[in-house]
Amino acid sequence: MTASNWRDPSIHIEKLYVEENCLEYEYTQEILAATTLPWTVVPERGKPNSLDEEFVYNLSRGKRQLFLCENRGQFYKPCPGTREYQCCDYQVLHTGSNCPIDCVYCILQAYLNAPWVTSYVNIEKLFTELNAGLKENPDSFFRIGTGEFTDSLALDRITKLSEKLVPFFAGQKNAILELKTKSAVIENLANLKHNGRTVVAWSLNSNEIMQKQELRAANLEERLEAARQCAEWGYSLAFHFDPIIDYPGWQKGYLDTVNALYEKVPAESIAWISLGALRYLPRLKDIGIQRFPGSKIYHNEFIMGLDGKSRYFRPHRVELYKYIYNALSEKVAPRTCIYFCMESDEIWREVMGFIPAEKGGLGKMLDATVSDVR
Ligand code: SF4
Repeated sequence: MTASNWRDPSIHIEKLYVEENCLEYEYTQEILAATTLPWTVVPERGKPNSLDEEFVYNLSRGKRQLFLCENRGQFYKPCPGTREYQCCDYQVLHTGSNCPIDCVYCILQAYLNAPWVTSYVNIEKLFTELNAGLKENPDSFFRIGTGEFTDSLALDRITKLSEKLVPFFAGQKNAILELKTKSAVIENLANLKHNGRTVVAWSLNSNEIMQKQELRAANLEERLEAARQCAEWGYSLAFHFDPIIDYPGWQKGYLDTVNALYEKVPAESIAWISLGALRYLPRLKDIGIQRFPGSKIYHNEFIMGLDGKSRYFRPHRVELYKYIYNALSEKVAPRTCIYFCMESDEIWREVMGFIPAEKGGLGKMLDATVSDVR
């Protein structure tokens, strides 16, 4: 396999925009001092340009522009899971929205209404909120991720946010950070004191899906090499087979990825692996077909789930899950928790033979994988 040139998707960014009031932040100045990209100041509460007037049409252009601005909402909040499906008790750190990668199935295409890639630079507020949240509940254990509305590392060469977050979490007693990415931008993690409190995670898929449905993402080889390197630096790892997509030959595609994973990465370094079959908001289908007319992922049979998202029929999901779960089970280390993202108890029992409640709940199962740092 050859290098994809997208180890670092931030090379796609051509220009920075900075909200005027953010110029005073030290973090903004650090980013601007280190970049060679041109940048323009935008009035406070203003917007970089009018690309948002035709949001989806302009999304591809917006992904070349990085907007450094203020987060006027909450940085730290629970993951928007649903009551109907087993949720993993995740907390979201909202560090920005959108990313330079372009996945056909990206749910953000239906959630967002602005095409620019945004990074929030008022990070003092981020740490104030985090400190307060963690201190308020000293007996709870928090798994916190930055990959809900963006890719955690795709912009890290420019923003170097990992250099702020990883040392912060190294000093926490009741929290662990998950950095989830489809890039291979790990250079900034090399010399950080992480104290075992950062898990570096990669979304994985079959080679065919990665190549055709994840534009400007690192390829499998690059992701796994980055993971191997992080394990060598002492980080725990996680992998997310999500979204699992049905296509002719999916069995071999996913089996090859499982085999490549365990050939490259020490099994013991893996804290958790999630499985999630393709699911999408109905309006994402129209957007996906409009933006990627050649993609066939929506040409299948779907039902509407209890959370208002379309998904494969249950027997179909079970077939996909069983195959991949069985392949993983042959290689998985005792430490690793394999879990479903947003699935019902019925699916858990049918595929894995138990439901999370029998093991204290999914949150507890995941927490146990990092028990050495608790
Ligand atoms: S990497 Fe994540 S945030 Fe970026 S386009 Fe893909 S799914 Fe969306």
